[in-house]
Amino acid sequence: MSEITYQSTRGQEKGLTASQAILKGLAGDGGLFVPDHIPTLDKTLDELKNLSYQELAVTILKLFFTDYTDEELTECVNKAYDEKFDTPEIAPLAEADDRYFLELFHGKTIAFKDMALSILPHLMTTAAKKNGVTDTIVILTATSGDTGKAALAGFADVPGTKIMVFYPKDGVSPIQKLQMVTEKGRNTSVVGIEGNFDEAQTGVKKIFGDKKLNEELKEKGYRFSSANSINIGRLVPQIVYYAWGYLTLSKNGVIAKDETVNVCVPTGNFGNILAAFYAKQLGIPIAKLICASNRNKVLYDFFDSGTYDRNREFYLTSSPSMDILISSNLERLIYRITGEMAEATAKLMASLSGSGSYTITEEMKAGLSDFYGDFADENATAEEIREVFEKSGYVVDPHTAVASKVYRRYRDRTGDTKKTIIAATASPFKFTGSVLKALGKETGEDDFKMAADLSALSNVSVPKAVSELEGAEIRHKEICAISEMPDKVREFCR
Ligand SMILES: *Cc1c(COP(=O)(O)O)cnc(C)c1O
Repeated sequence: MSEITYQSTRGQEKGLTASQAILKGLAGDGGLFVPDHIPTLDKTLDELKNLSYQELAVTILKLFFTDYTDEELTECVNKAYDEKFDTPEIAPLAEADDRYFLELFHGKTIAFKDMALSILPHLMTTAAKKNGVTDTIVILTATSGDTGKAALAGFADVPGTKIMVFYPKDGVSPIQKLQMVTEKGRNTSVVGIEGNFDEAQTGVKKIFGDKKLNEELKEKGYRFSSANSINIGRLVPQIVYYAWGYLTLSKNGVIAKDETVNVCVPTGNFGNILAAFYAKQLGIPIAKLICASNRNKVLYDFFDSGTYDRNREFYLTSSPSMDILISSNLERLIYRITGEMAEATAKLMASLSGSGSYTITEEMKAGLSDFYGDFADENATAEEIREVFEKSGYVVDPHTAVASKVYRRYRDRTGDTKKTIIAATASPFKFTGSVLKALGKETGEDDFKMAADLSALSNVSVPKAVSELEGAEIRHKEICAISEMPDKVREFCR
């Protein structure tokens, strides 16, 4: 099997092993690490069909992470995809209203970030061992709600790591806050800050760049790292569930041998849909990649016009994890459609950080032919939650509804009736208020009562991730000013 090395999309770093790229996260030139080539499956789809989720994960990870041994990858996978998930299938497929929802919300925080963040800590600590790093890895994260808890759940009590999460004290939902402040992991710290998400984010970036603080902690045996979605160690595990979804359709006799399917993904940072694109390159028979945006439709405009322009109004929507104007992972696709030209990629990215926009060439545009972009606004999203429920009794969350709506329009417009997998990225129980409202039901202040109502309506029991919060002990009460963030880090890493 050929070795794969990793290089920056902006050209200044090359030849890293997978474990080195995972340890570093972001390249020194600000670029993202990409494999020097995308491997192809070394087994037939028929052979893959009989594997468990865990076995499939090892098979795929091993194609990309060639410097890890089979034993190492098996251990990482088995520690990640275990009883933390509430179903042995890990990512089950549900048919409703003539489409197939790939449920990526059966992990600890009932949203799809669990799929990658349950394995990243193990890939990282293994990478540290392989590269002779003995320092404790300290993950620092600023969160607007979802990623914080998923990262806490992933890193909790993983030997060799500590994790500290900063959240805007008045800027997350009551359930999100409860999820974080009740975190039990002994290596965790959760601090509310007096400021908004951007200020928390800037504060964390400052700490990463603070040479003095880094040296001070290095002497004590700590090194900082980040768990954000541009780490290649988060991207590759996301390829697995697209293969799994396809193979499930095949196992169930829904599709014939080698029949192609479409994939439709509710998109924010472009990580999840990029993983689907990689799955296609790998040899999974995927036809169209349908990229669904909410009212913040910067990606739709990009696919439509070839111009990416972040200079626009920012809207808060009912699908907050897609409220994004800069889709960082898009840089990996841009790199690919330049014909893997780092210089051209770096230029476009410089333009994005300068004027806030860039335009690709006609030739590059031709490289996007696998993609189809559209968006659903707030009314369309609520309408879709209602329509899917009325037709099938299945309840989707607002993020999934955006994708489902975009798919409905795609099918109506194009007449393409290929079977389609929709990435279902969050449980409706994470967004009970918006969901009940869309269904025309009563809502209120009491999240637990709303969860019970939704349970009765959908015939799905309230997930443990929600029910266990009721009456749980509050373990993290600290609040600090932005300027005090470095001191909080010092206290945590004594
Ligand atoms: C993060 C997230 C998304 C967006 O995924 P990207 O990889 O950022 O495109 C969609 N839905 C939910 C529920 C999420 O948490």
